[in-house]
Amino acid sequence: MIEYTTLALLVDELWLKGKNRGSYFRALKENIELTLKAWHKKKYRLVIEAQRFLIRSETPFSDETMKAIARMPGLQELIPVREIPLDYDRLLEPILEELDSHDGEEFTFKVETLRSFKKYPKNSMEISRHMGHLILQARPKLKVNVRNPQVQVNIRVLPEHFYISTRSIKSPGGLPVGTNGHLITMLSGGFDSPVASYLMSKRGCTQTFVFFYAYPFVGEEVKDKIIELAKVLATYQSGCKLWIVPFGKVQKKIAKTCRETYRTIFFRKYMVDCSNLLCERLEADALLTGDSLGQVSSQTIGNISLVDQTSRYPILRPLIGFNKKETIALSQKVGTHDISVIPHDDACSMFAPKFPVIRPKNDYWHEYIEENDFTEDLNAALDQAEVFRIGVNGMLTSCEISE
Ligand code: ATP
Ligand code: MG
Repeated sequence: MIEYTTLALLVDELWLKGKNRGSYFRALKENIELTLKAWHKKKYRLVIEAQRFLIRSETPFSDETMKAIARMPGLQELIPVREIPLDYDRLLEPILEELDSHDGEEFTFKVETLRSFKKYPKNSMEISRHMGHLILQARPKLKVNVRNPQVQVNIRVLPEHFYISTRSIKSPGGLPVGTNGHLITMLSGGFDSPVASYLMSKRGCTQTFVFFYAYPFVGEEVKDKIIELAKVLATYQSGCKLWIVPFGKVQKKIAKTCRETYRTIFFRKYMVDCSNLLCERLEADALLTGDSLGQVSSQTIGNISLVDQTSRYPILRPLIGFNKKETIALSQKVGTHDISVIPHDDACSMFAPKFPVIRPKNDYWHEYIEENDFTEDLNAALDQAEVFRIGVNGMLTSCEISE
């Protein structure tokens, strides 16, 4: 494997932002630097050149570092590049080294040249053709395929250097985290909420995770599962916090006082109420859940509508129109699939009614919530929360609620 000391980072969607472009670049730069500090503990230089970031270091970047940087929302792709002095006779050798580092000996390729330095005496077409010819002479098993090559050799001509690249790592695209407000993400152990979190990281939202922990009605494993999920999701944020809020007492109270068929929907409503209180405490902007319309009884349009009517903050539901299979497929890409798939205790299903209400009655709903103000219990639960800080490299540390 070739060792790379220069990385080019292409930026996504920034053309949309007109006058705000400067602040988007600054946010992205900050996020990249946090990731670099966590992963590449060596000296580096980060510059913006022709609307893209270039990172140079004397020490090669590890695979892990490259993958971690490539996960930054706002980036389109990360390209490890070779910087060669602008000497045409020295161009072929590093290209052959690059090609030799790909698997197999018989793949197809194409050479694509971009002459940013217009005064260079050879034009792009001449360089591409000539290099293609020299490559075929040196590696007769390779074949050219201009439409759909297995490997594309990119040559960029700049005033002092040739840049060569033959591989790239795709990034999530979208907007840099930190440019679009702060969400309270309601994280449960399934497939949905982690994917919802990823989608909103991609739209630039900073997130604080909250998990309502039904201890002692569920085992401790579920807490570990949530922590593992949050560690993965933190890699798309520049670090984040996770609140684990003890919720067993409140759930018990609800289960005792409401009609059995309404249990699940009231559990959800009071989780949303508690998330509203946290949103207020942290001066966040909105809540985020993994709801998808009609997936389970608590996510019918009637139930969603009633829950929304009692939430003071907007509830974002990016998966509302997703099919379960689509969510599971995306969870593979996000990296949360193998954690979500592990079975866990779920207090909602332990207390679950045989016939959960699908079309809740407005009168009963309002009557119950008027008679059962749990604000004090919810605030007490928040005061007893365990709060963790998770670094962009997944490092977990405890912290104070007030921090
Ligand atoms: P998930 O949606 O996490 O994949 P699920 O489908 O079992 O799992 P539901 O019970 O349908 O989750 O809940 C819908 C949404 O409500 C979740 O996506 C999550 O945002 C939120 N939620 C449910 N239970 C909890 C909990 N214990 N703590 C925090 N949020 C929760
Ligand atoms: Mg769900």
